[in-house]
Amino acid sequence: MVKPVVLLADSSPTRGRVEAELRKRYSADYEVLTAGSAAAALAVLGRLGDGQRPVSLVLADPWLPDATGTELLAQVRRRHPVARRVLLVAWGDQRSMSAAVAGSVLGDLDSYAVRPLTAPDERFHRDMAEQLGEWGRRAGVPRSEVVSVVGEEWAPRSHELRELLGRNSVPFGFHPAASPEGRRLLEQAGTRDVLPVVVMFDGRVLVDPANAELAEALGVPTKPGSDRYDVAVIGAGPAGLAAAVYGASEGLSTVVLEPVAIGGQAGSSSLIRNYLGFPSGVSGEELAVRAYTQALTFGAEYVYGSPASGLRAGGADLAVILADGSEVRSRAVIVATGMAYRRLGIPALDALAGAGVFYGAAASEARAMTGRCVYVVGGANSAGQAAVHLAPLCRTGHRAGARALARGQHVRLPDPGDRLGRQHHRPLPGRGDRRRRAGPPGPADPHRPGLRPGRNRGRQRAVRAHRGRAADPVAAGRGPA
Ligand SMILES: Cc1cc2nc3c(=O)[nH]c(=O)nc-3n(C[C@H](O)[C@H](O)[C@H](O)COP(=O)(O)OP(=O)(O)OC[C@H]3O[C@@H](n4cnc5c(N)ncnc54)[C@H](O)[C@@H]3O)c2cc1C
Repeated sequence: MVKPVVLLADSSPTRGRVEAELRKRYSADYEVLTAGSAAAALAVLGRLGDGQRPVSLVLADPWLPDATGTELLAQVRRRHPVARRVLLVAWGDQRSMSAAVAGSVLGDLDSYAVRPLTAPDERFHRDMAEQLGEWGRRAGVPRSEVVSVVGEEWAPRSHELRELLGRNSVPFGFHPAASPEGRRLLEQAGTRDVLPVVVMFDGRVLVDPANAELAEALGVPTKPGSDRYDVAVIGAGPAGLAAAVYGASEGLSTVVLEPVAIGGQAGSSSLIRNYLGFPSGVSGEELAVRAYTQALTFGAEYVYGSPASGLRAGGADLAVILADGSEVRSRAVIVATGMAYRRLGIPALDALAGAGVFYGAAASEARAMTGRCVYVVGGANSAGQAAVHLAPLCRTGHRAGARALARGQHVRLPDPGDRLGRQHHRPLPGRGDRRRRAGPPGPADPHRPGLRPGRNRGRQRAVRAHRGRAADPVAAGRGPA
């Protein structure tokens, strides 16, 4: 496999030390290149092609001879949208720090790093490792597969499993049943009648498993380990995880009940920038993993797989009733159930949920949309995040770029007519091409949901107006859980 590039644009007297640290640590897996000016750096990036050769990280000195580092980094994004862009600052250099803060607020760069002072400088390498990890996540660099899922690509249960594993940070691979790898795994598993099939890291095979069955196979508890707790927290979103950390750290026996994904809705956020302690932001997935581990370290327990369906007073205790019929007894209960996505109420669309129509869009699902045309319905936070996940991977919708339909208004993403749009979006094929690509229309074709009269007529009209463009809509909008 071709090595992704790490590019250092630097002309300062300490450039040699930065270069040495980069080469020493990363040259086994990355090609480390250097440039002494912004023009030279852009020439290198140009030679690498617009997104054709992966560029993982660009580091820039704030004061290059021919431009500021921020100006250079702002241009990097146009050519290599998922490359991480870092400004290198020196200790005590307030002017560079001001440039880093301004560039970060304007979105011209992703982060800053302090130049290494010693060799090795682990603080510098921690920053580099974080940036390279984030690049790998955004670029969809395959991780080792703890779990392999084989299924029909557009089956709702395939989508549910992808979402479940992705949002719970389980490294997994999805293989369509008809693909060579899918066929190989099914042969190895000795089953092909019922899909999806899950092949575990140790060779165990689960045929169409329930969420709890899959959790148990991964070693996650699905039953409470104790008869009684001091605190039971319902829901493992940020609120529930924070309650678990504070409860457990005060020595209270604490259990967290979660049916879907640790991290709740925050797990689908590409970058949370307003959380305490993360000056460069943190992905929702990373935040969830850290909070989960923190609560676990303080002794909190997790019970996964069954939603709380009732609450009953029983003597001095409260009993949380779970949907599987079991109970969790506790002196106090914290309800932190957050929100659930509202459905549009269009039967034909809801019938395709998970099979071309998605509510919210986790990063794992965005990768499955590579090269497809996607319409995002909604115009607020979830829709914006879905667009961020999808835009670098998807093809443009018709003339005006990929679109988010926001309550009847059109919110435009980068226009394919401008430089950014031309580089990241291919135009849709002509009518004939489109028919060939989409296959024959019919009720099972996820690209052509036949809309029927019902509630939400305004939204139906908006969606219908865009029908026939071979789109995979992602719908967004939420209400209390
Ligand atoms: C795409 C996106 C991006 C965002 N970006 C930001 C941001 O940058 N900054 C910011 O401050 N906020 C952001 N938010 C909002 C933030 O994620 C929410 O405010 C936060 O997640 C709310 O936390 P919560 O724990 O209250 O609820 P949730 O995150 O909704 O978690 C609730 C949990 O409860 C579980 N649950 C529900 N019902 C039950 C039941 N019956 N039994 C057991 N468990 C149950 C759910 O499965 C879920 O895991 C974003 C949200 C989204 C969707």
